[in-house]
Amino acid sequence: MEKRQVYLDYAATTPVKKEVLDAMLPYFTENFGNPSSLYTVGQNAKNAIAEARERVAALIHAQPQEIFFTGSGTEADNWAVIGGALWKQEKGRHIITTAIEHHALLHSGAYLEKQGFEVTYLPVNAEGFVEAETLKSAIREDTILISVMLANNEIGTIQPIAEIAALAKERGILMHTDAVQALGNIPVDVQALGVDLLSVSAHKIYGPKGVGALYIRKGVRLPAYIHGGGQEANRRAGTENLPGIVGFGKAAELAGAGLSEHAARLQGLRDYFLDQVAKEISDIRVNGSLEHRLPGNANVTFKYIEGEAILLLLDLAGVEVSTGSACSSASLSPSHVLEAIGVPVEEIHGSVRFSFGDFTTKEDLDYTVEALKETVAKLRAISSVSKDSGF
Ligand SMILES: *Cc1c(COP(=O)(O)O)cnc(C)c1O
Repeated sequence: MEKRQVYLDYAATTPVKKEVLDAMLPYFTENFGNPSSLYTVGQNAKNAIAEARERVAALIHAQPQEIFFTGSGTEADNWAVIGGALWKQEKGRHIITTAIEHHALLHSGAYLEKQGFEVTYLPVNAEGFVEAETLKSAIREDTILISVMLANNEIGTIQPIAEIAALAKERGILMHTDAVQALGNIPVDVQALGVDLLSVSAHKIYGPKGVGALYIRKGVRLPAYIHGGGQEANRRAGTENLPGIVGFGKAAELAGAGLSEHAARLQGLRDYFLDQVAKEISDIRVNGSLEHRLPGNANVTFKYIEGEAILLLLDLAGVEVSTGSACSSASLSPSHVLEAIGVPVEEIHGSVRFSFGDFTTKEDLDYTVEALKETVAKLRAISSVSKDSGF
């Protein structure tokens, strides 16, 4: 087999598209102005940000004045949850989120607990979904905020956010969703979802790293989280990441234009990949529901072996994937998401996430399946944790 370079970790980050880079470049050099300056180069910068804001707003069916650029998806999540909690604390100090959130949410929750808030981490079912009854029974008189992610970054499950947001609205509870992983892969419509706050990030949709946004529904007076100048309508201070924001705008425009073809293509690739893996490799399990799931996500357990070892051998073959939680892959702590859906610990360690994107081809997947087949056979041959050892 001719060696290939195959990137299958689009859920961790995506390459910047050529059109996005081209749109950004002039804003490093000739159009370098500070958007707060009143002379021409500053006003040009201000106009470019306004245009980017319109494009991001259009992608999620919001008004441009409801979009607040941040330094990352993580910052948007922190602002929504910590800012929301501080804002509503007179009314109560109880927050509801889920056990499968991104660490941007879970660690914000832990921070709030240290500040005297109470946080409920809702369990999910074996398919990876939050159940309405579970949520209903967790809501209390003093619940001030509910945050449930739209799509999970490890197993791709898409939560029934509209239903959850309706429950929150009935009870006057602030509703946030982390849509970082969903954006550009499925339709994200803040009107249909009915949320107050929604986080997104550019680098997951073929835009640059280091720029995100928080959607704040009109009328929701979420206070500023970063303090300083009057940028972002006095809500998020700091001289704007001009090229980054322009790139986010361009990426959002491209994502919106190609959304249904993109999703259909990724789903085709994903289903093809899972079929081939099931055909070629024994003792595997697909984690999370295949319904209501991001089109480009596959999460597979290869029993009796370590995901870390699979990752390293695949990397030698040129294939890049992730294991456990990408963010904690440097540690060996098992994925909290797979734990939450009830995957046994030894099987969590044998789990690999494959995420597909715009530059993935069928040939890449054929190559990957071949490499996987060899890798798994090799590791199982030397594994002490084998089928015959009673595991
Ligand atoms: C990537 C990701 C984030 C963090 O976004 P950054 O821009 O990388 O900080 C948050 N939530 C989810 C679900 C993600 O996939």
